Amino acid sequence: PMRPYASVLSLPLIVRDEAIGTLVLASQVSTAFPAESREMLRVIANQAAVALENARTYERLQELATTDGLTGLLNHRRFQERLDDSLRRSDRAARGTTRPVSLIICDVDHFKSVNDTYGHPVGDVVLKGVARILLASARKIDVVARYGGEEFAIVLEETGVEGALQVAERIRVDVARELFRSDIGTLSVTISLGIATYPTDARDRETLIERADQALYQAKRRGRDQGLAYGNLVGKRPAASA
Ligand code: GH3
Ligand code: MG
Ligand code: MG
Repeated sequence: PMRPYASVLSLPLIVRDEAIGTLVLASQVSTAFPAESREMLRVIANQAAVALENARTYERLQELATTDGLTGLLNHRRFQERLDDSLRRSDRAARGTTRPVSLIICDVDHFKSVNDTYGHPVGDVVLKGVARILLASARKIDVVARYGGEEFAIVLEETGVEGALQVAERIRVDVARELFRSDIGTLSVTISLGIATYPTDARDRETLIERADQALYQAKRRGRDQGLAYGNLVGKRPAASA
């Protein structure tokens, strides 16, 4: 059974004149915190406060460095790292069976005219909305990133081309159905999607991205509002030439 505390010392954690917490010390000894040790404990509390504040700052910077400010999705740099991780995981797991990784790159159709017609702030609202739909459509472990201005990327682990086409189609429909509000009425947008699958379409990250981009380009050329897999394109180059 615990004996009650005979003395308690509470010290504020202060950084730049702001209290960010409290350090509470308790002892069963009634003379545990005499005046002379209180001064030393105040110094320790100050150092704890600074350390805590540094950790918070680091966390904030870390988040700024890895996420996109507008959408909250992973940024381009972090996306590249995560795609690398996924490909390496696939290689490790391979052992005879294939564990494909699919990459979907999507791009909002005629987005320039959304900005021109409704204004840049509405364009931003659309981008946030598309990001939300992508997050909802992807499973938890999957990577969803803002790849560029109005381009997004999704990494699907253990997903071959068929599965990726299904995900792409679901996303395409969800985006097309969404109504975005603006001062001059509601609007909707469509997206085009390009898919490439590792290792069938490409055996390294750069080529995989290139192939997804090529498929996206073809989807645009064939009329937009559609998803295309690199593996289904005519005139594609085999992965071996990568
Ligand atoms: P396409 O169907 O061929 O993709 O046509 P598009 O108009 O979407 O293509 P384009 O690349 O010409 O235009 C992309 C536009 O996206 C141009 C740029 O101003 C806009 N954009 C890029 N980043 C942002 C952003 O953060 N916010 C807003 N509102 N617009 C952005
Ligand atoms: Mg674009
Ligand atoms: Mg576009």
